[in-house]
Amino acid sequence: MISSTRPDSSRLLNAAVLPFELLPLEASVAEPSPRPEKIDGRALPLHVPPLPQEGLFSWLQRLSTRLRVSFHTLASHTFGIDDRTGRTVWWHRPHPWTLARISQRTGVKISRLRHMTFETLQPTCRQDEDPGRFAGRRYDTRPPDSREYRFVVCAPCLEADATPHIRLLWQLGWLAVCPLHGTVLLRRCERCHAGLRVSPLATYTPFSPTTCNRCGESLLADRYRMAHPSVANLQGVLLEGKRSGATEIVGMGKFSWQETVALVDTLLGAFWTCTTLAERSAVVARYEDESLEEPGPEQIYDCRHDSLGFLAWLIRGWPDGPGVRIGGEMLLRGLTRSPNRLSRHLTPIWKGYPWSPSPHDFAPEIVARLRKLIEV
Ligand SMILES: [Zn+2]
Ligand SMILES: [Zn+2]
Repeated sequence: MISSTRPDSSRLLNAAVLPFELLPLEASVAEPSPRPEKIDGRALPLHVPPLPQEGLFSWLQRLSTRLRVSFHTLASHTFGIDDRTGRTVWWHRPHPWTLARISQRTGVKISRLRHMTFETLQPTCRQDEDPGRFAGRRYDTRPPDSREYRFVVCAPCLEADATPHIRLLWQLGWLAVCPLHGTVLLRRCERCHAGLRVSPLATYTPFSPTTCNRCGESLLADRYRMAHPSVANLQGVLLEGKRSGATEIVGMGKFSWQETVALVDTLLGAFWTCTTLAERSAVVARYEDESLEEPGPEQIYDCRHDSLGFLAWLIRGWPDGPGVRIGGEMLLRGLTRSPNRLSRHLTPIWKGYPWSPSPHDFAPEIVARLRKLIEV
């Protein structure tokens, strides 16, 4: 593990005091953009401007905090959003009418609101935006039946914020590295080890992305971990694919975003579901030997960063890299195994049968594209 001491900076926040309690009203209102002049007669009584790169969820959390109502109350009573189950994650890709209503009540332009959502990225493919999507756990067990929205943070980013907020891109479930600082995004509280999550949306709890909502510990830790270069590199390639629809992997060629997700799911899904425990242990031992990494199987099982590192090893140098022989074997098993369980992790527990209905749950042309990689 590579870690560095955080650069000197004055710590504004104290773990026992929530950030919004520290800021006087004027201080938190005086943000870059002024209140818009044209605003609907039913406008909210106060204006909270969105911050650069902020996600819609983070901004609405700040707005509901300022209004002293729950997130759910703001969404349902003010914007007419019906999310009684609390599971729709509507803020990732809201309906255009929803954006129009939010714009009407807040005065923030629809085009600005759209840039706070995933609408500018490639469409969701096999739930690729879910938390920890490419980590081993998602291939092995069903997704958590949870109404709590999970998130990750970059401590150096938050520490530099006048108003701490969650960046839109951090909400992409497989993102593991801060694009600005190159640090591993924090997903668990270092004190109580709970995954970072917001309080239940139906309760009024001031939004504080710098504080663990379970134990109250500050998330602005003194030390942080720098990402492995292979992970930062692979994440950059995946992010480009998610943005443009074309993922270029050295040695493998170009893939659409659907093909990219299918490739990752086949490689990692086969490793976690089509191998015996002894085979997995042998592969992990070899990974540790050849990559000089010491993640341990539990880390590539549970950690976004380390699972991307393992994935990078499986494809790096294709068709001749050190982990490629294993990668090729996993592709072969994933594409030929019947019945396959690769999509067990994709079906939420409340939606029924978790097994895929056919030998392949990818379109035939995607299977053909992946087969070309091992038919050379
Ligand atoms: Zn950062
Ligand atoms: Zn905690």
